[in-house]
Amino acid sequence: MPRFGGIASMMRLPVVGSAHGLDAAFVGVPLDIGTSHRPGTRFGPREIRSQSSLIRPYNMATGAAPFDTLQVADLGDVSINTYSLDKSMRIINDYFDELLAHDCIPLTLGGDHTIALPILRAMAAKHGPVALVHVDAHADVNDTMFGERIAHGTPFRRAVEENLLDCKKVFQIGLRGSGYARDDFDWPREQGFTLVMAHEVWYQSLAPLMVRIRAHIGNTPCYLSFDIDGIDPAYAGGTGTPEIGGLSVPQALEIIRGCHGLNLVGCDLVEVSPPYDLSGNTALLGANLLFEMLCALPGVARR
Ligand code: MN
Ligand code: MN
Repeated sequence: MPRFGGIASMMRLPVVGSAHGLDAAFVGVPLDIGTSHRPGTRFGPREIRSQSSLIRPYNMATGAAPFDTLQVADLGDVSINTYSLDKSMRIINDYFDELLAHDCIPLTLGGDHTIALPILRAMAAKHGPVALVHVDAHADVNDTMFGERIAHGTPFRRAVEENLLDCKKVFQIGLRGSGYARDDFDWPREQGFTLVMAHEVWYQSLAPLMVRIRAHIGNTPCYLSFDIDGIDPAYAGGTGTPEIGGLSVPQALEIIRGCHGLNLVGCDLVEVSPPYDLSGNTALLGANLLFEMLCALPGVARR
């Protein structure tokens, strides 16, 4: 079958209904009702899958050959309730509880960033509080948005309150843009998070940062949450809340490749909004970053 033919599963992998027997799986969460500004991430999983069809199984930069050692499939999408954010949180949490019961590592196609909260609830229920590598233009630690405690700008505030994170092992990378108040970033620092502002790493390789992060996190179960808006809108403009002056694509690759060696227990790639992605380039980037996450998982050998 030519790569443009057939059903557009992630990387043209088999679509299966259960995580039983899988080491890792791609799964979509087509949710955008937690979004504060431009919507459209409900179409993210489908477009990421479409753009993933060109991705081949071997990583020519790192030598990673994930399919040599891992059983991987596409689980399709979580059937969220698009009229109820609260019900969707429960549906997502239950889904990931079930997935993790099979010792499968999820690679999640978002969806807006609200989905990280129910996923982290499932992660912490299985592993205890997890370390976190969080790439984003935004810290997503608001207490409320329009009075709501559940939204795409609040998941990591709730995660701290619910003791889902090992706060001394949380790294937020790529933060920037305008804020609501001068002290917006004080709260996460007070929790023990390490914040890496985008402007602090302009023009720099992030490989040395990742060496320090790996040493600091050690073998603690670690979750990788990657908001595509961490990357500059020149490369990833198809998203809901773009901020100028962001990370480059090579820096994003250094972050994900630099997670190899961590005890990764799950990853997500969120906030791709196809209606604002007229070239498809943002979804193409998201698809490739998800492949890089697969290549960074424990048990994936590099040449
Ligand atoms: Mn975010
Ligand atoms: Mn963001």
